Amino acid sequence: MNFEELPTVNGTLIWYYTICPRQVWFMAHQLTPDEHDDNIVLGRFIHENTYLRERHEVQVGNIKIDLVRGPHGEALIGEIKKSSRAQESARLQLKYYLYVLKGYGLELKGMLFFPLEKKKEEVYLDEAGIKEVERAVAGVREILSLPLPPPLKKLKWCRPCAYAEYCWS
Ligand code: SF4
Repeated sequence: MNFEELPTVNGTLIWYYTICPRQVWFMAHQLTPDEHDDNIVLGRFIHENTYLRERHEVQVGNIKIDLVRGPHGEALIGEIKKSSRAQESARLQLKYYLYVLKGYGLELKGMLFFPLEKKKEEVYLDEAGIKEVERAVAGVREILSLPLPPPLKKLKWCRPCAYAEYCWS
């Protein structure tokens, strides 16, 4: 793990990496999406209004994480999502947080929350997960090094994407 190099990558970029490389590039270049986009508003609302008693936001290095209590009272890293449609991406984002914390000597488990679906999922970081995170970090770095956004490609995520106007109008 090359811990020194991590600050340019963050959990949001890791999340976008599995959704769309252009989103990674846009976010990293401060091209912010439409803050009034319905999906962004809903996501923000859910984050600001669910599990308030259980979680506690903390900043560790360049990441902001929610600490939550697990079913047996143990501390877990929580990540709240509005839907499980991109569950793989949510898992990878959480594994990235666990990876960063591992670099600080903290071996924790994670928990994904999908409050609208009343679903939860425990997430662990094993050897395969470490490799997966390292591949994603390398992939994000490659995208960040591009002078222009990656080529436009129609994806299943385009319709609800807050960048759709940038890409398709
Ligand atoms: S509209 Fe589609 S191609 Fe453009 S950033 Fe969003 S998901 Fe990517």
